[in-house]
Amino acid sequence: MNLKEHVPLAPLTTFGVGGPARFFVEAESAEEVVEALAFARERALPVFALGGGSNIVIADSGFDGLVIALRIQGVTTENKDNGKTFVTVGAGVAWDDFVVWSIEKKLSGLECMSGVPGTVGGAVVANVGAYGAQVSDTFVSAEIIDTKGASDKVQAIQVIKKEECGFSYHDSLFGRSGGRYIVVSATFSLSADPAVTPSYKDNRFDMAELSLQLGHKPTQQEVRDSVLKMREEKGSLIMKGRKSFRCAGSFFHMPFVSNEKYDEAAGIARTLDAEREKALRPWAWEQPDGSYKLAPGFLLEYTEFQKGFVRGGAGVSPLHALSIINVGNARASEIAELALDMQNAVEKIFGIKLEPEVEYVGDVENRIL
Ligand SMILES: Cc1cc2nc3c(=O)[nH]c(=O)nc-3n(C[C@H](O)[C@H](O)[C@H](O)COP(=O)(O)OP(=O)(O)OC[C@H]3O[C@@H](n4cnc5c(N)ncnc54)[C@H](O)[C@@H]3O)c2cc1C
Repeated sequence: MNLKEHVPLAPLTTFGVGGPARFFVEAESAEEVVEALAFARERALPVFALGGGSNIVIADSGFDGLVIALRIQGVTTENKDNGKTFVTVGAGVAWDDFVVWSIEKKLSGLECMSGVPGTVGGAVVANVGAYGAQVSDTFVSAEIIDTKGASDKVQAIQVIKKEECGFSYHDSLFGRSGGRYIVVSATFSLSADPAVTPSYKDNRFDMAELSLQLGHKPTQQEVRDSVLKMREEKGSLIMKGRKSFRCAGSFFHMPFVSNEKYDEAAGIARTLDAEREKALRPWAWEQPDGSYKLAPGFLLEYTEFQKGFVRGGAGVSPLHALSIINVGNARASEIAELALDMQNAVEKIFGIKLEPEVEYVGDVENRIL
């Protein structure tokens, strides 16, 4: 185990903010994770599992405990009789490298999630979703370590099946467990039949049109190219040679509200600016249970926090109303303060509370204002 001390964490995140880790280990195997956990347990240190750092804001004061950076690599395959291929991937593999690999191998199911930053482990924890696909669609099982469990490697590793993972919209049992479980590998069932039928549609993009434009059903690579283009236009891509922002993607979850609350929000928006409300449709989607999923970016359009807003080192992406960005040398406290003001502004106008999707690590919230 290669233990380090006082390691700066900002460069290991896509926001590029945050102080150092008191202790830091890069784990390249499950054994090293178990070893690192034993070290933390002996000293009663809090532990944080770090993937690609693309969904977190680390406190300016850093993390006063042990950060275990998951670097476990490797991809293995197993062909199944039903034409599916089971692919087991190390938690530290970059998610987008895995997507590229699947396209090269003509194994479909991941291409709509092209360009999502972070690692395979992080993608499972967040049940990453994009352009009509989500991790839980193809996920089969994962190897996990319970940080409160056994200190012997063989006993420490458990296999958890999909139905036990509690996947929900952008969340999972792992995400809800407060960091209790560390994912060391995940197995996906990919289709050897490369028939891709992308169905994503929003108010700017319609994937069904791709087939019409191309004159044929898009290949996996064509879906990827199209997704990367959309992501770049929306400011939701971090990739060398492409327009990128230092951020953590969408900062807030999409709120789900009752039918009455939706009517109320629509009424407020029309009273404030009917033209704008019309121009930004669709901004609400009815759910099977009668509730509505709202676009937080729409609600923010009625606040001062418009695209391109800048305050100190933090701001709102000029391309994406939901994305807080590091415009210069932002401090974590500036980002958290801006997020809080955005939440309060939406709540004041619409009575709807936006919840952060991005996770605060260390003492971020208590150090603002
Ligand atoms: C530009 C941009 C675009 C994005 N677009 C999307 C999108 O389209 N859809 C979407 O769903 N998300 C999106 N995201 C959010 C983010 O990329 C995902 O949530 C990603 O899966 C986070 O993975 P990570 O490895 O970076 O995790 P980190 O940010 O390092 O960690 C996030 C959380 O996961 C935990 N974690 C990470 N790895 C492990 C592990 N192996 N075991 C246990 N816990 C672990 C951490 O402890 C932490 O709680 C975007 C982010 C950015 C910056």
